[in-house]
Amino acid sequence: MVTLGKVLLLACCCFGFACCRDGLEFRHHNQAELEQVLLDVAEKCPNITRIYQLENPSVMGAPLLVLEMSDNPGVHEPLEPEFKYVGNIHGNEVVGRELILHLAGYLCDEYQNGNKEIRRLIDTTRIHLLPTANPDGYALAAVEGSKGQWLDGRTNANNVDLNRDFPDLNQLSYSGESEEANPNSYQKMLQVANQFSQMQPETLSIVTWIFDNPFVLSGSLHGGDLVVNYPYDESRSGKPSEEYTSSPDDVTFRQLAIAYASKHAQMMNVERQVCGANGINFAKQGGITNGADWYSVKGGMQDFNYLASNAFELTMELGCRKFPEESELKRYWNDNKEALLNFMWQSHSGVKGLIYDLISGDPITNAVIVVRNQTKGERIAHNTTSTKFGDYFRLLAPGTYELYVEAPNYTPQVESITVTNRSLSSGTADDLIINFAMIPRKINEQTYLENLNADRNEMVDDETDYSRQSQPLGASDYSDAKYDGPKDGNTDDGEDLQNVLNLLRATPGRENVDPLADAVDERDVQDIMNMLKTPKGDTKNLMDVLRPPAKEKKAAKPESLPVMKA
Ligand SMILES: [Zn+2]
Repeated sequence: MVTLGKVLLLACCCFGFACCRDGLEFRHHNQAELEQVLLDVAEKCPNITRIYQLENPSVMGAPLLVLEMSDNPGVHEPLEPEFKYVGNIHGNEVVGRELILHLAGYLCDEYQNGNKEIRRLIDTTRIHLLPTANPDGYALAAVEGSKGQWLDGRTNANNVDLNRDFPDLNQLSYSGESEEANPNSYQKMLQVANQFSQMQPETLSIVTWIFDNPFVLSGSLHGGDLVVNYPYDESRSGKPSEEYTSSPDDVTFRQLAIAYASKHAQMMNVERQVCGANGINFAKQGGITNGADWYSVKGGMQDFNYLASNAFELTMELGCRKFPEESELKRYWNDNKEALLNFMWQSHSGVKGLIYDLISGDPITNAVIVVRNQTKGERIAHNTTSTKFGDYFRLLAPGTYELYVEAPNYTPQVESITVTNRSLSSGTADDLIINFAMIPRKINEQTYLENLNADRNEMVDDETDYSRQSQPLGASDYSDAKYDGPKDGNTDDGEDLQNVLNLLRATPGRENVDPLADAVDERDVQDIMNMLKTPKGDTKNLMDVLRPPAKEKKAAKPESLPVMKA
């Protein structure tokens, strides 16, 4: 018994946190030890963790284990962004693998210690940590460890570079940029499906993972240089290097890259030694680089995230040495800790909100969010879509934008917003929230319009100057191919909420009524209901719908939205 107890105590102290006063040791962890570390964290922080594995194990049968950290593990909570870190997809680039293990332990410890920022982060973000995407490559690289050759263990057990194995959607996008602005366009999904049978099991697992979870932001941790790399990785012309290939979200990607590099101890230090004899001094460009401007990567995970899903992924190169000595690991952690945290906070940048049916309150899945940059006066040719819970997340750099939301069978809506991302630096997660209560077209076209026309006639009779009231947008105004900002006078696609409001406001004494603000009285609801000819029995439901969370404030979670058990 004594011996067994000693063995358990020793195992625990070697691998994990549970009985180690100083936390996880700074050393390399093999697959069994990695699994034990995750188990130890989960045991220490059971209320905020969940361990799960991706669909397929590696070629050699090792599970791809994810530690999820959230105040509600296993559940997508509407308006809480989902974030992921992926480590070690190149089996010989091991720093990210160890950093993710330390990050898991740190988040657990600090949550328990009552660290306010960490508590806020975990309470408002669903974090997924995959320490190794290539356990077989790691096992090979670890044989020689830091004495190994530059490429030993880079690939998986089938000798395939997993970061070249993802469906290549870039060329499809380059050939028809505006048509392919939606992440889940038919052509893209067809191409992904056609490649399923050829993908490595590790790649297929990650592709499925990306499709199954509404990730907003992601970091892929590599080694071999010190820089944050952002899309596109694949050049437009096929040129192998030095071809800056900007994505439609280039400005936002640069901001996200800077969010990491600026908090890293060395990335922006122009005095530091470059990697290798012919290395580039990335610090001179702020510690960041466009992927294809450095060298072109075809079939990479980063571009796949952006083109096939709503997730924005960046690649962190964590240092010159891919498999450093254990004695260097503590410095790596200290250099990266703040950067790793700050980057996770960026999943709260931009704008988010709920898109739901005005009448039923049901969430609307796959609504398309089109963004127009008001400052530049042009559309960002990359749309995002609402999740199956009706929430959407659109990462954006500070600026003034117009959001246009469309969904089949609903009248499109448009809203102007100003993004500051100011709260991120204070770690308050005081996110910009813009909700969209969508009006079903059926009601517009079959019932509401008749009523509206009747009301209009009355008003014309009353000599009301109706011509000065604003007109709704037509969906065609924002179609991918020719969106050029909202236009007046197009009523082909029916009327929207604005018309209801206009009618209300045309009533004497009701000029300032705003049913979407917090205070709405029964009279407004009755008037709107009469206009929409909604059955009286629905009064209560409609009341709820008309009281969405106030804009630009952290919203309460509506009861009507379902919560997923993953
Ligand atoms: Zn790599």
